[in-house]
Amino acid sequence: MSVTVEIGRRDDRPPVPPGGAGWSCPKCHQPADPAAVRANLQVCPACGYHLRIGARERIAQLVDQGGFRERWAALKTLDPLEFTDLETYPERLREAQAKTGLTEAIVAGTATIASVQCVLAVMDFGFMGGSMGSVVGEKLWRAAEMAATEGLPLVAVCTSGGARMQEGILSLMQMAKTTCAVDVINEAGVPFVAVLADPCTGGVVASFATLADICVAEPGALLYFSGPRVIAETTKEELPADFGTAERNLALGHLDAVVARTELRDKLANYLRLLEGGGTPERIRARRARSRSPRGLVDATARRAKALAAHARRPFGRGDREAVYTPQDIEA
Ligand SMILES: [Zn+2]
Repeated sequence: MSVTVEIGRRDDRPPVPPGGAGWSCPKCHQPADPAAVRANLQVCPACGYHLRIGARERIAQLVDQGGFRERWAALKTLDPLEFTDLETYPERLREAQAKTGLTEAIVAGTATIASVQCVLAVMDFGFMGGSMGSVVGEKLWRAAEMAATEGLPLVAVCTSGGARMQEGILSLMQMAKTTCAVDVINEAGVPFVAVLADPCTGGVVASFATLADICVAEPGALLYFSGPRVIAETTKEELPADFGTAERNLALGHLDAVVARTELRDKLANYLRLLEGGGTPERIRARRARSRSPRGLVDATARRAKALAAHARRPFGRGDREAVYTPQDIEA
């Protein structure tokens, strides 16, 4: 059986290229000097419209000069389903790699942001719509594990269309895996800050991106699980004009702040200093001394998952809302 799906390409708000001439803002249509837009971190100087930027440019904007060391760049995805739509999955990967210069839709490593050390993971919407497959999930897991064992905060810049359909159920499993990665972070007691950039939707917004201790977004970013058209068609209700925007998410309490890109670096550094009590070498050494081995953290997380599973098996007892389970249930 063959299924035909019509695919349309949406405006992907490209950043202003180096040496570009005659740029005008896609929102307010005001012409501007491309150099001025780039100097303003790819934000329209007239109306503040935030253009989409790639992972490398984002890292250059956030991190101190020479302060980023990439890790796990050699991780490569397989093609377990031998998935083919208009092209094969390996062909799509090669195209995305040529277009972005990246190996996958996430770049991760250690970084210093305004002199604060952290583990940084940055997604790139230009790489197959920032979709989360097994490599994105694995890199996020390794970043979280490193943050936990080294006693460093984790910063994730998330922009994604959701799970990667070419990997089927394996990409959906990354939602559970990255959620467990956040649990490892919580178990270690290190901070996790997420920055949601336009757009952040589907399986990423429904997993690690919104589980951070502090969750901020860029102005005008679209953040939702399902798109407005799908929801409107399903519920037969008209949605508000600002559905899914960062500003509406803030008003509804889903975000801690909406932060302009020009202030993002300083704000992130402030959050990290406040949460970890400063990133001086002495403090980092003290945290490392306190932190446990990766095995210990994973074991602790697994113990908690087992306790929750035992709770789910025997949720209520004798009509009250107290969970009734024994240590043997947890060990089972
Ligand atoms: Zn503008």
